[in-house]
Amino acid sequence: MATGDTEERSDAVVLALDPGALRAVVAGSCGLGDESWRARVARLRTAPPFLVSRLWLDRPVRGDRPGFLGTSGYGPLDNVSVLNRWEGEAARWAARTGGSVLELHAYALSGGVGRETRQKELLAELHRVYPETRRARVVDARHEWRADCPLFPVGGYGDRPAVTTPTPGLVVAGDAVRTGLPVALMERAATSGFLAANALLGSWGLRGHPLWTVPEEGRGALLRWAARAAHDV
Ligand SMILES: Cc1cc2nc3c(=O)[nH]c(=O)nc-3n(C[C@H](O)[C@H](O)[C@H](O)COP(=O)(O)OP(=O)(O)OC[C@H]3O[C@@H](n4cnc5c(N)ncnc54)[C@H](O)[C@@H]3O)c2cc1C
Repeated sequence: MATGDTEERSDAVVLALDPGALRAVVAGSCGLGDESWRARVARLRTAPPFLVSRLWLDRPVRGDRPGFLGTSGYGPLDNVSVLNRWEGEAARWAARTGGSVLELHAYALSGGVGRETRQKELLAELHRVYPETRRARVVDARHEWRADCPLFPVGGYGDRPAVTTPTPGLVVAGDAVRTGLPVALMERAATSGFLAANALLGSWGLRGHPLWTVPEEGRGALLRWAARAAHDV
């Protein structure tokens, strides 16, 4: 493995990267995989940017507000978390100051609208969702703008790279990786990490870590038959 002007030798490599970084590393490492695998990696897509705004307010939200609320019909706002209900540092800050710590998420934002404008839009939508926040002073704010989530086109499952690659000792892990199991997001990232470790351990004749998942078909023959019959109707 060569990075810049240094070279390191290793028995195995796990590429656990977001899709953009995986594309860049593979594109910049001509010896990895074969042509078809490299083309698959090059076809991985990155979802449009997301915004996470964390706000420290000078007053609490109403006592019956849930820790997490998914929203629809509030512009770009996708959800609101009252972090001080379930996160230690936020809870301590809120207890000390009498304020609250909220997090606003907006996913897959379309282009053409400036960051400042989007941040203001989220705050305005928060005021609609939780009107008691209209009079609150924002003591501090942090805004995370990123674009590193995988985008999954309809019908694209089969084209995604799996954990093992054509290069012995090279495995990939992450949410963009095809696992063959009914998992997604963090669960897929973690599951593919276990599968990658198991693939390497297996290649050295060592036992890996058993992975459990939900049943992928009915447990009894009769139920499987009934599910197939219902599907065929
Ligand atoms: C706002 C938001 C909320 C979410 N909420 C949830 C949720 O509630 N539940 C859930 O299950 N999932 C959630 N997700 C999704 C979850 O975060 C991802 O599915 C998960 O982080 C994917 O893990 P990953 O390892 O594939 O990629 P990442 O977490 O993106 O990790 C890739 C890592 O590679 C590093 N990297 C990049 N380039 C290089 C390089 N050249 N060299 C070394 N390192 C590099 C990056 O810094 C990064 O740390 C959320 C995502 C977002 C954005």
